[in-house]
Amino acid sequence: MEFQELKDCRFDGSGHFKLDDYTTDVHVKKELRPNFDALTETNTRRMSELQGKLYAEGREGVVVILQAMDAAGKDSTIKHVMSGLNPQGVTVASFKQPTTEELAHDFLWRAAAKLPRRGCIGLFNRSYYEDVLVVRVHDLQKTYRMPKRVLDTSKDDFFEQRYRQIRDFERYLWENGYRVLKIFLDVSRDEQRRRFLDRIDDEAKNWKFSSSDVAERELWPKYMDAYEQCIDRTATKEAPWYIVPADQKFYARWLVSEAMAHVLEECNPHYPELPDEQRDDLAAARTKLLAETGGRDDRAERDETERENG
Ligand code: AMP
Ligand code: MG
Repeated sequence: MEFQELKDCRFDGSGHFKLDDYTTDVHVKKELRPNFDALTETNTRRMSELQGKLYAEGREGVVVILQAMDAAGKDSTIKHVMSGLNPQGVTVASFKQPTTEELAHDFLWRAAAKLPRRGCIGLFNRSYYEDVLVVRVHDLQKTYRMPKRVLDTSKDDFFEQRYRQIRDFERYLWENGYRVLKIFLDVSRDEQRRRFLDRIDDEAKNWKFSSSDVAERELWPKYMDAYEQCIDRTATKEAPWYIVPADQKFYARWLVSEAMAHVLEECNPHYPELPDEQRDDLAAARTKLLAETGGRDDRAERDETERENG
């Protein structure tokens, strides 16, 4: 097995990005799966503890962007990651085909509306990156109702502008107290085929499959070019991309949990410390509450009862 660390799948914009330098499969032996599941579990606990502090402190927000081809495991990754987090501090937003209302605005509008508050984590299932991926592959920009001065630029210039707008937007977020974690679940075309077959053969998975998915699959090379370009142009030190091998789901989950725990650690959150006056207030409140029972602390009895009642 070609073991990877988180840093092996990070691209922060230094140098030129080539998708072929990254593998979709590290071929972890089946017997090792429990080890990875255990590591993921440990990260989940790390995340949970850090999230509690992030929320309490309320200073920094985290946006986690998941991008991938169909059937790469975005949904199941979200389900897994969420299982370890307190729902109070997390929002999930899925970005589908834009509505008429959304298309009548600038492309970052709908994403800006879904940003989490600082102290919270916002998971983006797809994102404004679709606007340089599916849009680029299908030349959808040509159909947009925009002035000639915008549409008359060459295709390359149009998307170079968008990459810059995205870099600027992410820099703006950084400067406003957010971190953006960008994950590309890198699945192979062969594995996608097998997962589509699973979706067709398993009735419980039928709803996830649409015949247009097969048509999109035909455009695989164009999508890979679009991903390569987009990652090359939008990875920065503050908002790097993680290219996660996604052919083995348990492995991808572990790496995503590594990336999430890492970004939360970078936030380095702490429970807020009470100022001295508030500490005095607490002490006064304590005295008052204990006075109600004549100074007797009856919590030990309560704990005893709870133990007895299981
Ligand atoms: P799914 O994630 O499978 O529910 O599919 C959502 C679909 O919406 C995908 O096919 C995306 O490519 C598409 N989509 C998301 N954002 C955009 C966008 N800005 N323009 C066009 N299509 C989009
Ligand atoms: Mg789909």
